[in-house]
Amino acid sequence: MTAEMRAARLHKPGEPLRIDRIALPEPGPRDVLIEVKACGVIPNMNAIFSGTLWNRLPPLPASVGLDAAGVVAKIGSAVTGVARGARVYVNPWLSCGTCAYCRAGTPLQCVAAAFQGYFGFTDQSAPLQRAYPYGGFAEYMPAAAERLVMLPDSVSFDQAARFGYLGTSFAALRCAGVGAGSRIAINGMTGTLGAGAALHALGMGATRILGIGRNREVLAQLKALSPWRIDTLVLGDAPVGEWLLAHSGGIGVDVLLDCSGRAASAGTTLAALGALKRGGIAVNIGALTEKLAIEPIAFMVKALQFRGSNWFTTGEGQLMADMAGAGVLDLSVMQTRAYPLDGVNDALAEVKSRPGGLVNIVVNPDR
Ligand SMILES: [Zn+2]
Repeated sequence: MTAEMRAARLHKPGEPLRIDRIALPEPGPRDVLIEVKACGVIPNMNAIFSGTLWNRLPPLPASVGLDAAGVVAKIGSAVTGVARGARVYVNPWLSCGTCAYCRAGTPLQCVAAAFQGYFGFTDQSAPLQRAYPYGGFAEYMPAAAERLVMLPDSVSFDQAARFGYLGTSFAALRCAGVGAGSRIAINGMTGTLGAGAALHALGMGATRILGIGRNREVLAQLKALSPWRIDTLVLGDAPVGEWLLAHSGGIGVDVLLDCSGRAASAGTTLAALGALKRGGIAVNIGALTEKLAIEPIAFMVKALQFRGSNWFTTGEGQLMADMAGAGVLDLSVMQTRAYPLDGVNDALAEVKSRPGGLVNIVVNPDR
């Protein structure tokens, strides 16, 4: 008899996931099999699974789940340097290894990129989606050994299941050069990306972290993490640009991390851009779609930059894990709400209310 496992699968876009019994996958030569302990549930998931966005869903029915952490249960024949029993996070970013971008060492720009267990970015993503057709809402999943982040004992699986959004914020702060003494503004700090950015900015040495958001209560929770370094503005309480300038010594911020998302208005981003200091950089990670009316002359005169950042490398994931292990990145403030595998649709329903902030909704497939 073939060994089986339970996996939550998407059969039809927009319908609840079904818990199916399917054959236990075998890891390929360069892969490992992970016994999944936790997999994160993120705000955008319902929209992706609805199939109404531009994203390419995997062939259905599909085993899904984006941010998995667990224990290495089986090792492929060509894998070295990974031991059974290792505690790991799986970076779900799939890249082809052969396109011009991958060859140049920039897999985050891969023309065939896809998220394992989630979606593909382009028409060329299908082969990678077929090669890795298992997600983290399952008792087991195979993953390429090169995409494993080794977890220190002090980082729980539930915390690691938040690494996707944490890593997106971390990579964006790194590309913006955030470090000792940085002054940064986070537009949309109450969301999952924004709250993660606040935790990272604290760990990376930023001395002024100016958070803008709608939810007064969540902003207060975030300010309490470090009242001397974090200041917050509830949208509508004061004009954004003036408030940022007043709280950054009148000179402006080094970095604007723009977490405003698909449905957000570009007005706040525009106002915050006005508070970038000379040579400053804005990075969007929220996938804002509304058009932004900028004047390029201001970018020329003040040598400003505006760029995007989409995910993070496995190396950056490892840095994050090491920072969390050393206590530089404090993940103990996360408020985890865990669901068993059977409760995956309840978890997806809860995330619809966009609790954001430090709330960390996960599924534990071993329950
Ligand atoms: Zn590629």
